[in-house]
Amino acid sequence: MENLVDDCLFCKIIKGDVPSYTVFENDDVKAFLDISQVNPGHVLMIPKKHIVNLFDYTNEDAKKYLQYIPEIANAIKNAFPNVTGMNITTNNGEVAGQVVMHSHIHFIPRFEGDGLHLMTRNNADDYNEAKYTEVANKIKEQF
Ligand code: AMP
Ligand code: ZN
Repeated sequence: MENLVDDCLFCKIIKGDVPSYTVFENDDVKAFLDISQVNPGHVLMIPKKHIVNLFDYTNEDAKKYLQYIPEIANAIKNAFPNVTGMNITTNNGEVAGQVVMHSHIHFIPRFEGDGLHLMTRNNADDYNEAKYTEVANKIKEQF
């Protein structure tokens, strides 16, 4: 366990100072039920290192910690016969809805008729070739 901090809720969960319904754990990550279940089986996966959010991951961090995403997704899916899909999301920064400042991946199992509407804004009508080219180029230049 590297670099845990005292005043972080998820570091406390890693240390066992705050209880959690753990579903998977190894030297790198811990996965446990979100206390507020958006759908049954909603899990959070956290690195066992205090990293605020994805903006702070090195490529090595990404390889080390994010490699478990498909395995955890499949475990949740296989646990519930009615789960036929899943939203895997991460909120990065307060403006994006991040409340706990220790990086975490949400696994939200989906089943037919669950009535959840995530990412519902559709701006496809605003398509504009020049604008899209400008936006894509701004990002490309950063690599
Ligand atoms: P976010 O808004 O992406 O930062 O998500 C933080 C998540 O942490 C929320 O979905 C909370 O329900 C969840 N959460 C807060 N406290 C706990 C806790 N003690 N155990 C498990 N999940 C928690
Ligand atoms: Zn932490």
